[in-house]
Amino acid sequence: MPKRQDILQYCDEVLQTTLFKDYAPNGLQVEGTEQVDKIITAVTASRAAIDCAAAQNAQLLLVHHGMFWKSEPVTITGWKKQRIAKLLAHNINMAGYHLPLDAHPELGNNAQLAQLFDWKVEKRFGEQNLMNIGELPSSQNTLAKLLAAVAEKLGREAMFAGTPEQPLKRIAWCTGGAQGFFQTAIDAGADVYLTGEISEAQYHLANETGVAFVSAGHHATERGGIRALGEALSAQFGVECLFFDEANPA
Ligand SMILES: [Zn+2]
Repeated sequence: MPKRQDILQYCDEVLQTTLFKDYAPNGLQVEGTEQVDKIITAVTASRAAIDCAAAQNAQLLLVHHGMFWKSEPVTITGWKKQRIAKLLAHNINMAGYHLPLDAHPELGNNAQLAQLFDWKVEKRFGEQNLMNIGELPSSQNTLAKLLAAVAEKLGREAMFAGTPEQPLKRIAWCTGGAQGFFQTAIDAGADVYLTGEISEAQYHLANETGVAFVSAGHHATERGGIRALGEALSAQFGVECLFFDEANPA
């Protein structure tokens, strides 16, 4: 049976975790058994994902959003106690890979989203190379067509700012809660910026610059990376790996 340490070392090396400045620890966050032959991947280490890992007798829960964010209280109370108690009771390892998994050029959330939508990646840029810019296929060359593609491929209606008939050629994107990078996308010459969330300011920026904004869902845009990492681990170590999904409207 593969060792936890070997699996996590492989993740660290492939994702180059030491190169990133992050606001949660990358790698092992809660320690369980030393051997791993079944992995559950999930976007977030929610109670539902932990329950799934326990029910499946998995030894590793591998996620994009772990726990212990810098902005959170450091105390282990309430919902956080419940999550950790269940992990410990079942001897389940929980490991999280955050920004390194957004940015990876093949396994990353941004790369996987590009693959799903058939966007041609021109370059990665911006803060810690988390932004991508590239060309849209002709089937997505208006905002209305891009929104239809989002509905089809991510299974949800996107919120947007812009006019449906506006023509699009270049798209910038960053999965998750990256609405704060909209200006960087505008400066890079994108016709549209797609991310997971929208806030007040982006609506006005879109109206005043003519650059469209698409909010396609934080969870919905970040399913790809952790799934791809799990598949890579299956191939490398022969471990069983299942993806746990949640219908998260955010
Ligand atoms: Zn995220």
